[in-house]
Amino acid sequence: MDEKYKSLLIQELKQELTNASNISTGTIAAKIEDIGFSCLMCGKCCRREFGDNRVLLIPQEIQVISDHTILEAHEIATPATSDGSDSDLIDTDGKIHTFGWMLARKSNGDCNFIEDAETSNKCKIHEVRPMLCRTYPFYMQDMELHTSECEGLGRKIAPEESLTIAHDLINRYVAEIEDTIALYEKFEEFTPNPENIEIKNIRTNEDNHVVYVVHDSKGTHEVIKEFNESTNFID
Ligand code: SF4
Repeated sequence: MDEKYKSLLIQELKQELTNASNISTGTIAAKIEDIGFSCLMCGKCCRREFGDNRVLLIPQEIQVISDHTILEAHEIATPATSDGSDSDLIDTDGKIHTFGWMLARKSNGDCNFIEDAETSNKCKIHEVRPMLCRTYPFYMQDMELHTSECEGLGRKIAPEESLTIAHDLINRYVAEIEDTIALYEKFEEFTPNPENIEIKNIRTNEDNHVVYVVHDSKGTHEVIKEFNESTNFID
């Protein structure tokens, strides 16, 4: 990434951070109350069969979950992949570069922390669940409130619950911008592979393992993962 471009991005993010820090919780809470929301505990946002259930995490969230569960970071999070088609993220050594982490998923693609039984959609780490789960189906982007697909939208919500979600939402927005700024500041350049290899076609060694290079707000980390035919590296 060109240094000039990088510093421009950081500058823009810092401005967004200032603006985000000044968002009124009451204004967002009023919007949430207008939209309405009540969780039906259907578990659709946690299960792969209903669509994109990736939960992006910042490193501090992985630490909080680790402290609570005594699980190791690699059991909690995995490199945040896209849809597996970004060939420009493969470097000249065949390593796959990703930006940040997402919550690990089971072999069927469901969140690792949702109870197995189909009848139960309980979250095993509910107390320390990531900010994205805490605020789902709402998110902030470009200073605006947005919603994701969810059948619980449009239902009556208590004012105090709207306030709690608004508060968490603004905290999440600020934390994510801060994290992205730190990621850019620590970002280490890599040379994209000149051959147009698709991620799904990578098999880096005889052991059927691939190497990810994860860029996050703490720096750069190499992670070796077993190739997973059924998930196409997504998990
Ligand atoms: S947030 Fe929405 S999709 Fe997720 S469990 Fe609740 S109602 Fe279902």
